[in-house]
Amino acid sequence: MFTTRVGGSSIGPYAGLNLGAATADDPAKVRANRQRVARTLGISPEWASLRQVHGTGVLEVADSAECQGLRGDALITGAPGVPISVMAADCLPVALVGAEVSAVVHAGWRGLCAGVLQAAVSNFSRDSRPVAWIGPSVGRCHYQVGREVVEAFREANPTSPGFWAADGDRFLFDMRAAARWVLRRAGAEVDDYEPPCTVCDSRFYSFRRDGETGRHAVVVWR
Ligand SMILES: [Zn+2]
Repeated sequence: MFTTRVGGSSIGPYAGLNLGAATADDPAKVRANRQRVARTLGISPEWASLRQVHGTGVLEVADSAECQGLRGDALITGAPGVPISVMAADCLPVALVGAEVSAVVHAGWRGLCAGVLQAAVSNFSRDSRPVAWIGPSVGRCHYQVGREVVEAFREANPTSPGFWAADGDRFLFDMRAAARWVLRRAGAEVDDYEPPCTVCDSRFYSFRRDGETGRHAVVVWR
């Protein structure tokens, strides 16, 4: 389930349904927002989530308390009823669902180039090819990057097509298309759904658009 910022009790730059406990928002409001989502979905308000660091760490959990305070950018679980979540505000929130386990991944360009998507997919057994969905994130329309970003992607994925177009001396990088390519190569089946751009669409939090802001989430449970 991908959330928006609509509804919720946060105010100021976090206005709406901020689910990011690592933001400077009032923790009581973030908790209340999580509870509101959990109630609506009929799931536990105790979500497993990590301190996201734009790396490649994948943690398998059977209980939400196991990852308290730990760093990483992907969670995986096979335990029934345990919600796993990552937060984003332009980065890619990715859900991976297999026959026996499910995962959530947070990927910005650094995690994408470092291989966080492959790391998450490699946790699925070979007989269970996961299906992947990429959620609301910065679209190519608003993702202007420097040469170092496209070079890092090219270096990590030398056989990939170029998912960017020159824009003056910078580039417009289609990070979703790049992620779909990486996920397919890693063995996932990828839904071709083109999610809303978080910068264009004010229903979502966007760091690029607003600077200090809240976080929407992808939450997966079995
Ligand atoms: Zn856009």
